[in-house]
Amino acid sequence: MKLIEFKKVVKTFKQGTKAINAVGGISFTIDKGDFVAIIGPSGSGKSTILQLLGGLDRPTEGEIEIEGKNIAKMSEGRLTRLRRNSIGFIFQNFNLIPTLTALQNVEAGMANRSTVAAKRARSLLHQLGLGERMNHLPSLLSGGEQQRVAIARSLVHEPKILLADEPTGNLDSRTGQEILRVMAHLNEKMGQTIIVVTHSDYISNYATRILHVRDGKILSDGALKIRNKDVLEKAV
Ligand code: ADP
Ligand code: MG
Repeated sequence: MKLIEFKKVVKTFKQGTKAINAVGGISFTIDKGDFVAIIGPSGSGKSTILQLLGGLDRPTEGEIEIEGKNIAKMSEGRLTRLRRNSIGFIFQNFNLIPTLTALQNVEAGMANRSTVAAKRARSLLHQLGLGERMNHLPSLLSGGEQQRVAIARSLVHEPKILLADEPTGNLDSRTGQEILRVMAHLNEKMGQTIIVVTHSDYISNYATRILHVRDGKILSDGALKIRNKDVLEKAV
């Protein structure tokens, strides 16, 4: 089932008198349950694509549909709601609030702090192996632990789409593989749709789909649709 569609999307940034074509008219669709890796050299437009996908920025031209709704033209209020309800983000540098504990950071990902939601925050931290570390500040956690807190925060509102921008870029490869196992579990067991910008071979080898971008264009779009379980076994 189609969840996302990019139709001839262009994103141009103005820098002084220069116009930078970060995304140069791309079209693709992503189905519910896909695990998509976006790969390509630095500066090729990967982060811009992810920001557009998550409604953090708007395209200069073209349409972006999420569940059939064009977010390119959506009012600011509706877009904020869509982002809050349907999108989860994970970043390379974790983006945790340093003065909040792990649990408080996860709770900060919720629009409404209901009792149910607070329970969910605890339960996610337990599932991610952080049951004993919930009341620690980020500075007392390892990189892998901080990224797991960030994953819990991104999932606490049960997003339809999980977006990750080089989530293992600041982690050693062993810890990075731990993070891949968490994402693989979410995708396989919970049907979570995941789109991840990555330079890690072990993530792109696991993905069901690889979007290869260069200079703001799609070089290739490999819909593999089979999971390479060998990668996970090696990662254990
Ligand atoms: P990647 O994530 O693949 O490294 P980006 O999407 O970050 O690439 O950037 C694509 C191009 O757009 C680069 O040339 C970058 O310098 C430019 N760019 C990205 N964001 C901005 C911005 N906010 N203002 C001006 N230029 C930008
Ligand atoms: Mg980037």
